Amino acid sequence: MDQSTLAAQCIDAALAIILEKEPELAQLDSVAGDGDHGAGMARGFRAAAAADRTGTAGQVIAKAGMAFSDAAGGASGALVGMYLMTLGGGLQGDVTTAIQVHSALVKAQDALMKLGKAKLGDKTMLDTLIPFTEAFGAQAGAGATIPAAWGGALDAGRAGMESTKDMVAARGRSAVLKERSLGTQDPGATSVYYVLRAVGEVLQRECP
Ligand code: ADP
Ligand code: MG
Repeated sequence: MDQSTLAAQCIDAALAIILEKEPELAQLDSVAGDGDHGAGMARGFRAAAAADRTGTAGQVIAKAGMAFSDAAGGASGALVGMYLMTLGGGLQGDVTTAIQVHSALVKAQDALMKLGKAKLGDKTMLDTLIPFTEAFGAQAGAGATIPAAWGGALDAGRAGMESTKDMVAARGRSAVLKERSLGTQDPGATSVYYVLRAVGEVLQRECP
């Protein structure tokens, strides 16, 4: 399978898991937020999956990110859209090593952090992304292939997601109600973990 088809399949898998988990994401966001996280992510990935799919894998992901940004709305719409645009921009030409993917993941994470001004421990999607990306880098540095590094980093992302239960929100809408968010897993950290896991499944299946 060529790389742009693989990128498109990853976006389709992200859409499928978000549609499946939409009620759960809405419920998590209703505790200290406004309940729209599932709907926003679904709108974003629907648009991402409908975007133009010509060009390199990086271009396919960047165009999906632009469509996501326009469609999703909310804090997460701008943040995830920016993440995907930067990720796509960082994947130049033929992507063959996990080191290349790691460098694009870091650029995308940096762009998200610059836009949202959140850090690790603020109870956001970054609490999944930062540990995932760090673990991915460790795997890549040890010579893992892209699917192996991705699969090997998922546990760190899951642990990060689960750690948000014990956090008080410091950013975004939930920060207004602060303590009310304690005890509930962050919706954005949850949706990002589901997407990472779904992408990992595609990579394992298509790049054995
Ligand atoms: P909104 O908060 O505008 O209703 P969503 O409900 O779609 O948007 O998304 C909420 C999620 O966005 C939170 O659970 C959190 O993970 C993430 N989020 C909010 N603000 C930030 C930020 N500044 N940086 C990173 N992630 C953020
Ligand atoms: Mg919301």
